[in-house]
Amino acid sequence: MELGLKDRVVIVTGAASGIGKAIAEAYAKEGAKLALADLNLEGLNALKTELKDNEVYVEKVDVTDEKNCRDFIENVAEHFGKIDVLCNNAGTALMGDIATFPEETFRKHAELMMYAPVRLTNLCIPHFKKNGWGSVVNTASIFGKQPGGLISYDTIKAADIMITKDYSNYCAAFNVNVNAVCPGPVDTPLWHAEGQLGDQLASATGMSRDESIDWFAKTNIPMGRYAKPEEIASAAVFLSSEPAHYITGVALNVDGGMVKCI
Ligand code: NAD
Repeated sequence: MELGLKDRVVIVTGAASGIGKAIAEAYAKEGAKLALADLNLEGLNALKTELKDNEVYVEKVDVTDEKNCRDFIENVAEHFGKIDVLCNNAGTALMGDIATFPEETFRKHAELMMYAPVRLTNLCIPHFKKNGWGSVVNTASIFGKQPGGLISYDTIKAADIMITKDYSNYCAAFNVNVNAVCPGPVDTPLWHAEGQLGDQLASATGMSRDESIDWFAKTNIPMGRYAKPEEIASAAVFLSSEPAHYITGVALNVDGGMVKCI
């Protein structure tokens, strides 16, 4: 199927690692021009080197910083002359006891995964209107549909789904579709890196980090394994493709059958 993404200018946030990196690689295969943002400039530069056959612009951006975001979007528009696709992907996760979860962490997660996608979408809308075409893909989570016990994460990912639906209504009149991918657990550094979900699972289960990561997949995911980042990326690329442009307001589960709701 021809996806019509050649020479589209695609922004991906959180592109230095995990799902964002896979999303950038998948768009690159389709011949898109990439504007990649992350706190990790070293990771972005490594990806730029890997994607040497594509036009790639990278910038160190903290998506929680309003001025940083504004400058980034202006820089991308100036560099490429237009913006076609926005993938709001930067994020994190943290488990914790619901009753004592730190308010400050909750606020930081909201800044990162709720306000940043809204801000970046608003900043891109004038560019989409100028094009007469646009597409937004938000990385939400199945835990925005079914509680995973990660209070800030679940709440904010649920908000991302509603943000997706509100913007899909708002943007339809100017030919912009807005969708979300809802991954189940994905094999990324978010599970394996020190202090991240794997360690938190290990302390909850009394197993080692690797054992508890493995145990979680086998006992919770019908397909018995984590998603590969590329499997989330292919859904994101499809949703922003030309053949899928009439699909809007969808929060698509990519979860090996883990969630039973739509
Ligand atoms: P990851 O840690 O591998 O990558 C996240 C990237 O976001 C990192 O490169 C990080 O530097 C960047 N980032 C963090 N804060 C930032 C900021 N303020 N400004 C700019 N960049 C920032 O994690 P991942 O697993 O690839 O997660 C990507 C997205 O997918 C997140 O929104 C996450 O919530 C979501 N998600 C992940 C899983 C999973 O199991 N890994 C499941 C569902 C949803």
